[in-house]
Formats: sequence, structure tokens, C-alpha cells
Amino acid sequence: MDKSQAEKRKKHLFKNTPLAYDQLGKQEREAAFAFGDRYKEFLNSAKTEREAAKKIAALAADMGFVDIDELLTIKTTEPVPQRVFRLFKDKTVAMAVLGQGKISSGARIVASHIDSPRLDLKQNPIYEDLSMGLMKTHYYGGIRKYHWLSIPLALHGSIIKADGKKMDIIIGEEPDDPVFTVTDLLPHLAGKLQGDKKISDVFDGEKLNLIAGSLPLGNENIQDRFKLGVMQLLHDKYGIIEEDFISAEIEAVPAGKARDIGFDRSMVGGYGQDDRICAFTSLAALLETPSPEKTAIALFFDKEEIGSEGNGGAKSSFMEDFISDLLFLNQEPTDNRSLRKTLINSECLSADVNAAMDPDFKEVHEKHNAPRLGFGICLTKFTGVRGKSGSNDASAEFVGRIRALFNENKIAWQTGELGKIDEGGGGTVAKFLAQFGMDVLDCGPAILSMHSPFEVAGKADVYMTYKGYKAFYNSPGK
Ligand code: MN
Ligand code: MN
Repeated sequence: MDKSQAEKRKKHLFKNTPLAYDQLGKQEREAAFAFGDRYKEFLNSAKTEREAAKKIAALAADMGFVDIDELLTIKTTEPVPQRVFRLFKDKTVAMAVLGQGKISSGARIVASHIDSPRLDLKQNPIYEDLSMGLMKTHYYGGIRKYHWLSIPLALHGSIIKADGKKMDIIIGEEPDDPVFTVTDLLPHLAGKLQGDKKISDVFDGEKLNLIAGSLPLGNENIQDRFKLGVMQLLHDKYGIIEEDFISAEIEAVPAGKARDIGFDRSMVGGYGQDDRICAFTSLAALLETPSPEKTAIALFFDKEEIGSEGNGGAKSSFMEDFISDLLFLNQEPTDNRSLRKTLINSECLSADVNAAMDPDFKEVHEKHNAPRLGFGICLTKFTGVRGKSGSNDASAEFVGRIRALFNENKIAWQTGELGKIDEGGGGTVAKFLAQFGMDVLDCGPAILSMHSPFEVAGKADVYMTYKGYKAFYNSPGK
């Protein structure tokens, strides 16, 4: 076989994984960059699960989606609105566009999560030490603790006051706002204390305390006058007393906006892209799904980073309840059996990020099966640890269907595992939805510096993810 023949055979037989950027014509490249700008705006206005939920619900309402809970309280549901949403407890959202056929024939679901790793204020946060007011935090999700030292942090959250009134705060995002920070040990003095220790032993969760102030209230005869200084300011500005922190959820997140990365601005850097990248792309995809054959649903879960727990996590009955209400609205049977059949007939993309191969840490990946930045949406057949434990492991049949769908729609896609065998691992919401009998496949972009305060995503990947979800929603029924 001569060289040109061998090349021909190669082209026919080998898998082709084109760069996403190469798949885009000039016009679409511009569209991908414009989409990146909208994505950055979303990241900036959705730095916590509450802010993301509120933003998504507001965008849904703007686009003519009707609040399903309002519909269910008024009795007239004729004609049945085709686009509905639910904002649940201010932290979890579902949206649906009803299909042309019956919902019970199965829905197309894209499920992402809108919580991200961060430092939560403890319930008794304020104290003083060495002439400073400080705040105790308890980290949420899988963080590398050293990432959170010596960077500006903003406070975002909600406080329920003694009279039951809720107050939302954001401090540290405006250019002239103050910010907060966790101090770090100077290298000059770190040798003995930290020098030979394992990295996991060096950073102590109880030392992730935020500096809150250094001006006292009153003279030196007054005990705790630095704590008092902080409390007085909080009271003057927000009407907060110490007990209010008990019924508050305040999150310290990296201050500042998402930015373009690179001379060519081809990437987005910012906090919370795991998994608001999939929240934004699935939201955009659903908004552009006017009349699908199968009912199209986007779910935005809370609490994925701590095991999908709680009443708004993927382990809760949120999805079942929402779909049961959709059946009711559409005047279809809502008994338990009908709901179960609807769920079994459904298909789901578990929309979450994978870890792109890092040029500086290639050794934790297996190069034949590692996703890379720039190669489009990633199909992750399984996740898990130690021999796929805890993984959904999507069926070949469903992977085959999505692969064919993406090929048909010219979506740049790749496959990937989360790191080498036994290197570590992780999970997503996939397995919690698969237990209802529906087919589920993990499917989202691969990013760099996952779970850091400044995660990196490729704009062409963000765009391909949006196109992929849109193709899924709009594809003809089985
Ligand atoms: Mn995630
Ligand atoms: Mn995560």
C-alpha cells in the first residue's frame, strides 16, 4: 500500500475529532464570540445558586414562560401555555416547553447545577483577634484551600431578620466596594510550620477566616471593641444584629468579573463555570426551542457539589413533582404509574463539565481518552472512582443516539474520562436521574482549573455545548 492509499484508509477508518473552531465558518465564529460575551454577563450576575436561580427565572419570565405555580392556583388553564417554569425555594429552577405530542411519550431533559464551591460564613461568624474583626467560614464543596488565600473575596447572600423579612446583600463587586480576604503565611516564616508537610495537612479549614475590619468602637476599656466596630457598621448599613447570621446564607466568592483570556480572547476565565456554563448553554438552547416534538425540559439543581442533597438537589423529588405538574396541566393522567412511565420514556443529558487535559499536568490524564480544550462538547460515558464506582455509565445505545445526532448537526464533540484510572474521580447528577429508568449521558464542555476561583473555558466549546443541547431538544422523536 503506498502512502496516499494509506492516508485514504486512515481517513476512512480513524476517528476524526476536529477542533471546534475549525468547524465554524466566519459568521459562526463571530456568533461564538458574541455568545461568549453573553455568557460572561450571565456569570457576573449569577455568582451564587440563589442569584443564578433568580436570573434564570427572570429571563424565563421575560421570554414568555409562565410561572407554573401561578397557573396551578388559578383554575383556568385553557389554553394550556406551552412554556412554563418553576422557581423552587429561590435556589432550584425548572423550565419546560411542551412538545407537540403527549408528555407521557417522554421528555428531553438537560440537567445542570447552579451551586459552586465557595466559603460560606458560619452561623456565628464575627469575632475579634489581635485588634481585628474577623469572620469564620465553612467551605462548601471540593476546594483546594490554598486557592482561597490572598485573593479579594466578595460576600453574596440572603439574611432572614428577626421579623422574618429577607434581605439580599452583595458586597465587593462594585469598583469602590470594599472586599474581604483570607490571609496567608509569608514564605519567610513558612518553612518550619509548613515546609515538609503534605499539602492536605498544610491548609486548615478553620484558618479560612475573613478579615472584616480593624477600627474599634470606643476606647481600650471596652472589651471586644473590634468586633463591636464591625457589628455597629453592619447595623448602621444593613440593620443586622449578631443573631441574624444564624438565619443567613452568606457566601464568600472571588470578587470581580469574568474576563476574556488570551491575546486572541478565545477563552473565558471566571468563577463558577462549573456548572453555570451548562446552566447558561441549556437555558439559551431551551429559549430557542419554539415547538419541539418531545417536551423539552431544563433543570437547574442546587447542592450538586455536596452530593446532590437537600430539597433542591438532584436526589430530591423536584423533577418528579415538576413533571407531574406538567402532566396535570396538559390534562394527561397523573397517577404514579403514568408518571413513572413518563420518566422511563424520557432521555436526559446530565449537563456538567469535564476536566480538560492540562499542558502542565498531563500525567493525571490518559491521553487517548482525555478531553481537550477546544474540541467541543464532551460525551462522558461514565464518571466515578476506582473502577467506575458511583457512576451512571450510559448505555452504548444512548451514546450512539447522541453521537449520531451531533454528527448530523455538525456539532464538534469529543469523548473523555475524568483523569487516569485510579487517579481520583468524581460524579455528577447523572446517576440520580438514571434511577427513574430514563437514559442519561454526561455531556458538557471540558474546562481547565476546575473548582478554582478562576476556571477557564474555550469559547468555541461553550458555543458547541449550546448547539449540542439545542440539537437534542429539537431532534425528532424516537
Ligand atoms: Mn459540576
Ligand atoms: Mn464540581
